[in-house]
Amino acid sequence: MIPASSDAAQPDAAMASAPADWRQQFRQAFTDPLQLLQALGLAHLAPQLSGDCSAFPMRVPRVFAARMRHGDPNDPLLRQVLPLNDEDEFSAGYRLDPVGDHSARTAKGVLQKYAGRALLIATGSCAVNCRYCFRRHYPYSEDIAAAAGWRSAVQQIAADTSISEVILSGGDPLALSTAKLAELSNALGDIPHVRRLRIHTRLPVVLPARIDNALRHWLQSLPQRVVVVIHANHAQEIDPSVGVACARLRDAGASLLNQAVLLRGVNDHIDALCDLSERVFDIGVLPYYLHQLDRVAGATHYAVSDSNALQLHAELRSRLPGYLVPRLVREIEGKASKTPLSEGQFT
Ligand SMILES: *Cc1c(COP(=O)(O)O)cnc(C)c1O
Ligand code: SF4
Repeated sequence: MIPASSDAAQPDAAMASAPADWRQQFRQAFTDPLQLLQALGLAHLAPQLSGDCSAFPMRVPRVFAARMRHGDPNDPLLRQVLPLNDEDEFSAGYRLDPVGDHSARTAKGVLQKYAGRALLIATGSCAVNCRYCFRRHYPYSEDIAAAAGWRSAVQQIAADTSISEVILSGGDPLALSTAKLAELSNALGDIPHVRRLRIHTRLPVVLPARIDNALRHWLQSLPQRVVVVIHANHAQEIDPSVGVACARLRDAGASLLNQAVLLRGVNDHIDALCDLSERVFDIGVLPYYLHQLDRVAGATHYAVSDSNALQLHAELRSRLPGYLVPRLVREIEGKASKTPLSEGQFT
């Protein structure tokens, strides 16, 4: 297979030399859509930009932008992050809270939908703002587990002995400082029924420098088994630096999984999905979920029909070994787990 970096032609000079410190990289992300387009030689796309995306601004780390193909308006990475005026389209059935997160809240920043697992909204912040994100309208300022020094979240978890796994989500939990993460893990370490800590993060992909020595030491210090679920939707997102970040996570004892979202114009093609599975496995990560898009307002243009999704999934099964086939699921409010898509169950 051809490494993705070899066809990501001539990155802009501003993207190529990244500072070593992840916080600096985080701060220096592209936040002006026009600037990103100019860096990619695509300024002529400006009229297609969303009129006002201030409620969910564009945010793209330069190291991620450097993996985009220069001059390609259909680049699968660009398509995930560019706020197009398609977002301003209203569509019936696309909601602000598509998966019922509000009703699953049990303490400040704690969501409990499924048996044995508590999910913490660790922070509202992300290194990248994915335009299809189902939490793009979540009222983070009111509801973050870290905001109260983790206190109410930890109390809730300590009081419920059925919780064996704590999932850090967000936002992106690795957008927090390692010191802040250590505060939480110190408090969780005293709760005997918590056996696993799971971290859902896109940072190993979009900002691999985040997996620095301090983070590795923190991971190694944890008494629980650690699972890190990364999020890559296309093989081109994975370059050698992502491989290094994942190797570091694995060395620190974490099991690595990938979740992806099925997105029109990004990965709704059998070759793209096969390449993604092969490529994440190349860097020691197993495919976990392929999510049907949550119907969040502003993301209509990413939708893939259920019949298409099922067809793609059937073809994946016929092409790849079973362990490289992610589970095709959708989140349905009120169900006891993510729901596998199956024939005859279209919505
Ligand atoms: C998706 C999700 C989980 C994790 O589900 P798994 O099937 O175990 O990956 C847990 N809690 C909430 C609120 C979720 O949305
Ligand atoms: S990194 Fe995750 S939480 Fe953040 S915008 Fe992207 S999909 Fe949403």
